[in-house]
Amino acid sequence: MIKKLNITRRDFMNGFAMSLTAGTALSPLELLAMNQQMQSSNLYPPELVGLRGSHPGSFEVAHALARNGAYWAEPSDQTDLDYDVVIVGGGISGLSAAYLYRQRHGKNSRILILDNHDDFGGHAKRNEFNVDGKQLICYGGSQSIAEPGSWSPVGKKLLKDVGIHTERFYDYFDRNYYKNRKLRNGLYFSGKQYTKDHISDNHLRSEIKDNEKEILDVINTYPIAEASKVALFRLLSETENYLQGIESKESKINLLRETSYSDFLRQYVNVPEEVVQLYRDMARGLWGIGWDALSALDAYKSEMPGTRHLNLKIADESYERDEPYIFHFPDGNAGVARSIVRGLIPSAIPGTTMEDLVQARVDYNGLDLESSLVRIRLNSTAVKVKHTLNEKAVDVTYIKDGSPYRVRGNHVIMACYNNIIPDICPEVPDVQKEAIAYATKMPLVYISVAVRNWNAFSNLGYRSFYIPQPTLMHSFGLDFPISMGGYNFTQNPDEPTVIHGTHVPLDPDKGLNAREQCIAGRTRLYEMSFDDFEKKIVSQMSGALRDGGFDAERDIAAITVNRWPHGYAYEYLDYSDPVEFNPNNGPHIAGRAQIGRISIANSDASAYAYLTGAIDAADRAVNEQLML
Ligand SMILES: Cc1cc2nc3c(=O)[nH]c(=O)nc-3n(C[C@H](O)[C@H](O)[C@H](O)COP(=O)(O)OP(=O)(O)OC[C@H]3O[C@@H](n4cnc5c(N)ncnc54)[C@H](O)[C@@H]3O)c2cc1C
Repeated sequence: MIKKLNITRRDFMNGFAMSLTAGTALSPLELLAMNQQMQSSNLYPPELVGLRGSHPGSFEVAHALARNGAYWAEPSDQTDLDYDVVIVGGGISGLSAAYLYRQRHGKNSRILILDNHDDFGGHAKRNEFNVDGKQLICYGGSQSIAEPGSWSPVGKKLLKDVGIHTERFYDYFDRNYYKNRKLRNGLYFSGKQYTKDHISDNHLRSEIKDNEKEILDVINTYPIAEASKVALFRLLSETENYLQGIESKESKINLLRETSYSDFLRQYVNVPEEVVQLYRDMARGLWGIGWDALSALDAYKSEMPGTRHLNLKIADESYERDEPYIFHFPDGNAGVARSIVRGLIPSAIPGTTMEDLVQARVDYNGLDLESSLVRIRLNSTAVKVKHTLNEKAVDVTYIKDGSPYRVRGNHVIMACYNNIIPDICPEVPDVQKEAIAYATKMPLVYISVAVRNWNAFSNLGYRSFYIPQPTLMHSFGLDFPISMGGYNFTQNPDEPTVIHGTHVPLDPDKGLNAREQCIAGRTRLYEMSFDDFEKKIVSQMSGALRDGGFDAERDIAAITVNRWPHGYAYEYLDYSDPVEFNPNNGPHIAGRAQIGRISIANSDASAYAYLTGAIDAADRAVNEQLML
């Protein structure tokens, strides 16, 4: 049994709501109103710990609307003067839409951004801790600016316009940090799934050449059956083309597309089930889904073992990145969100450079000032978006602190997420609803664990662990070694730092496709309490790090669980979607169709989960409205 730990966790919102539910006659929405009022107090959102991301108080109105058909009468009185544009959703897409709209329409544009969270940025979320007097900054969602060299011209320009110069990360990111300290990537076999807790080097993707003895020695320590060790060694050392008998290249590609990598390992490489399961969860963090529902063609492009000698020579053959994965603020893409917000409302965030932004403290009370042309209104969930009778404007009803308000915009941009739009906009035509319903968001959880020291990692010689068949996190480890703007990544194992963990809730190996697994995972995610998370996090970290001297009671200072039930935008997959679907062709095109003065932004509308998808969607939506 796990002892209750003395870990800071300010998940009192959750506890507050639950304790009241037990003995009051208040409805869930009345309780929510009280929750939201508590959130409106002077708490600094990035410093809140406990359940974050989709935090208590942020999603209840939308669920009441979408699941139970809740109805709020549209207020006859209008709040605020008319806006040029009202934007629903304050993530990267909504913030970009505001920035681009103002840039193109003029600096006197009146803009309102509504978001249901207590912080702006959407997935681009900042987590902060103070441990033993040291400020720790990390990210609770969107992580890095991936391959900025490949971004659209609009995306590249936006980054520059808000003062982000990606080339500077080459100086700020210490690419030799882990090599210099001889810290390796580890593999943690949990005693809950295997015969014992065991850690060792992760050789699951190694290619055996002249390092045969070293790798064999490590594999021999893995707590798996002898036959599995033999099969794993064979998988890593073989140069066989497992599709030898199949004639045409086209047939091979089709076969790989229709076969999951898990099945490829089973049927073509003939490894035991235990080896298949070792690999299953490796792709979850990147793809939001495991290898049981990803194609062997994706495995080939990812150079996974068993596919390396298929010699298909296809264009766009490899998923290898052209640029290093170093474009990362200490608070991840929250740094991008903060840069845009500073561009929109300079008085709310001090400073002028991407460096001084890192330690800048946002004035949350300054985001929604009557005197400001651009306003960001948090804790506000849009529930109805509809054209006025004369169709010259759009009314937006939103709920804040349990009460409905109505604002009016000449234009509206829906930068929320696509599946909620039909519940909010009664004017969405049926064909568009059907197109939107095709995709679903992929759920993810980013876990930030503030520790008083990282001696256990240093003692064991590991920087991170991949965990096959996990009870929760499928990986955790030390963070990106980035130092900038006076904020320094830890240089000494005795110092506090943040451990980053990833959990992707899915339902693997039941024959469900990616979309079905995501829906099942999302449902489960909402059912988990912070206690459930905490117990599993402590158990996993203790199991992996115990031999390095880790003591959860002593070493963990605080935990923030950033849950994103509506996480990555759905990207079409070889394995479960028609081959012709891609970001330029698929149901999302009909799903994002303009409805008069309402345009649809957000990364779902690009069928591309990355930041650049969110910005490009904003660009299109703004242009649509400016054409009117
Ligand atoms: C854990 C995680 C890690 C990621 N890592 C990366 C990465 O490293 N690099 C990368 O490029 N991308 C990453 N992404 C993808 C990331 O989602 C996109 O980069 C981008 O941030 C999405 O922006 P968005 O504005 O489209 O959506 P969101 O960030 O989801 O913003 C939409 C906002 O609208 C709000 N909203 C929804 N409905 C309503 C309503 N009715 N009323 C008011 N507000 C509403 C939402 O709650 C949300 O705050 C990651 C995503 C996740 C979840």
